[in-house]
Amino acid sequence: MKKEGVCPPFFILSFILAFYFIMDELISRPEEVLHCSQCQTPISSDHKFCVNCGFPERGSDREKSGFHANRVLNARRSQMAKKEIKSGRNSLLIIAGLSFLFGIGYFFLHDDTATLIASGILTIVYLGLAYWSQQRPLIALVLGLLVYLTTIVINAIVDPETIYKGIIVKVLIIVFLSKGINSALQLRKTQI
Ligand SMILES: [Zn+2]
Repeated sequence: MKKEGVCPPFFILSFILAFYFIMDELISRPEEVLHCSQCQTPISSDHKFCVNCGFPERGSDREKSGFHANRVLNARRSQMAKKEIKSGRNSLLIIAGLSFLFGIGYFFLHDDTATLIASGILTIVYLGLAYWSQQRPLIALVLGLLVYLTTIVINAIVDPETIYKGIIVKVLIIVFLSKGINSALQLRKTQI
């Protein structure tokens, strides 16, 4: 009981010290957080690379310049890939237009309603795929190429001479669609 008068100052002092160290730790910690110089994402002290963009914030100058060079290269690649995907999309629009014109022309020349309906359906399918290729270029262009090749094969079975009709346009469309598919594949790889 008689020691009670002595102890409280020690307790108070230790509380003040403990409080000071805890607050110091809490306040000084945010200052140590490094932010990515490229995207401002906080980088924890045990990380060398930014978890968001991959910039080697704690890496060597060589690693940093390598990152920038890679980013320029990737941007150029994805720009080219997007251009080729656009060519693929335009090819789908061209086939849509061609099957529409073919259906109308065939209908007026031969009064063939079945061909008109089939061409109309194909036109809608190609237009739909062209539109869809904005969100899902790979699957839309692959489906477009498959539908296109199938119609060429079916036409060739019905009338073998059709395979040579507009052969240059056919080859160009297949080339553009294939290039678009290839680019969509590469773009998907770089994005993962
Ligand atoms: Zn970053």
